[in-house]
Amino acid sequence: MSAPPVKSIVLSFEDARRVVDEQAGLIHAGDPAGATECVDLLAAAGRVLAEPVEADRDLPPFPRSTRDGYAVRSADLAQLPATLDVIGEIKAGEKLERIPAAIGSGQSVSIMTGAPVPSGADAVVMVEYSSQRGNQVEITRSVAPGENIVPRGAEAREGALLLDRSVSLNEAAIALAASVGKSQLQVCKRPRVSVLTTGDEIVDVDAIPGSTQIRNSNSYSLAAQVLKSGGEPVLLPVAPDELKGLRRLIEEGLKSDLLLLTGGVSMGRFDLVEQALSELNAEFFFTGAKIQPGRPVVFGKCGAGAPARERPAIYFFGLPGNPVSTIVTFELFARPLLDALAGQSPRKLAFLHARLKKEIRVKTGLKRFLPAILSGEFENSEVELVAWQGSGDIAATARANCYIVIPSDRECLPAGEWVAVMMR
Ligand code: AMP
Ligand code: MG
Repeated sequence: MSAPPVKSIVLSFEDARRVVDEQAGLIHAGDPAGATECVDLLAAAGRVLAEPVEADRDLPPFPRSTRDGYAVRSADLAQLPATLDVIGEIKAGEKLERIPAAIGSGQSVSIMTGAPVPSGADAVVMVEYSSQRGNQVEITRSVAPGENIVPRGAEAREGALLLDRSVSLNEAAIALAASVGKSQLQVCKRPRVSVLTTGDEIVDVDAIPGSTQIRNSNSYSLAAQVLKSGGEPVLLPVAPDELKGLRRLIEEGLKSDLLLLTGGVSMGRFDLVEQALSELNAEFFFTGAKIQPGRPVVFGKCGAGAPARERPAIYFFGLPGNPVSTIVTFELFARPLLDALAGQSPRKLAFLHARLKKEIRVKTGLKRFLPAILSGEFENSEVELVAWQGSGDIAATARANCYIVIPSDRECLPAGEWVAVMMR
């Protein structure tokens, strides 16, 4: 098999990310859900919704009091203090027949949070501004019409779309589904993601490494990231730095929905990943990004145009082998594509900001994502770099809880500056 030379395409971080976002946008474009399955409500937490969820009745289903107090006619409180008759008490879940049909002028009803407001009343006065003696209550504060009442259907009308396909089901979405009686939900199937580590020096985690051998940690960091992003990792055996064996395992990896390779994408004589992919008719979107760590990161797809293949083209990432580079490039590039494969609608990458604790000096030219520790409390978040030995230093990265994002044109960031932070 001859290997066409791979053209070098090195992009800025932003351009590289846009290329990934663009490809992510094409996935499921004509078929929003892809393969789906039905799961119990709680098992759906963290999954991607594959069916629309609608309101089965008005929300709230009745005008709901948001306070403990007295349901009143607001006009009755023009002059304060005002004394009103108390004609009943309504608790949350009160039976309909026990709720006064209407409240007349000069009348009120004692009411609890979550209880239905009777007709005639147009506001609820908080109990803190009242004192009841017998069947009368004295009120010391006025209320605007509508105050402390959520009208029937104000949150959603019966039949309204509450959750659309492709949303990731967080606790609020789960609560919303529960509130409309969905004990089961149709969710997208988890994409299978092959993880293929390359390198003659790499041995498995159970092996006793020789003095120049390294245990495989990248397959495990990647598998953990895949799991966290809603994918199902498939760990392949470690591939050798030799074309035939490497190609065979890449072909195996292309049977999944996404292939993540680590190692073998730098400039060394035994970095053969791009060549092996090229022999399998890969199309490369980029072969590098101006970032640190992770400059040699590769993104492409394989299988398009190969006549024998029935499956659609499979995307792959060649992530640099340095353990921190692997973790960071997954986060920056593989994650949005995996989100899309998982059925999620694409989201823009957004960074938080925190105040820098200590000055940073770097060289310009690369956008940097450096392991850092976010500390401080409440609104006073501060961030500082962890001391590290470069992108092989996994111990330093394990101490970090975020990355400081340094623009490629900055040489010095003084202490006290607000800097962009990418959370873990
Ligand atoms: P490479 O990208 O293949 O040049 O590898 C860069 C560095 O990362 C080398 O020091 C490798 O030994 C190391 N490395 C590569 N793959 C792994 C892995 N799976 N686990 C831990 N270290 C790795
Ligand atoms: Mg290698």
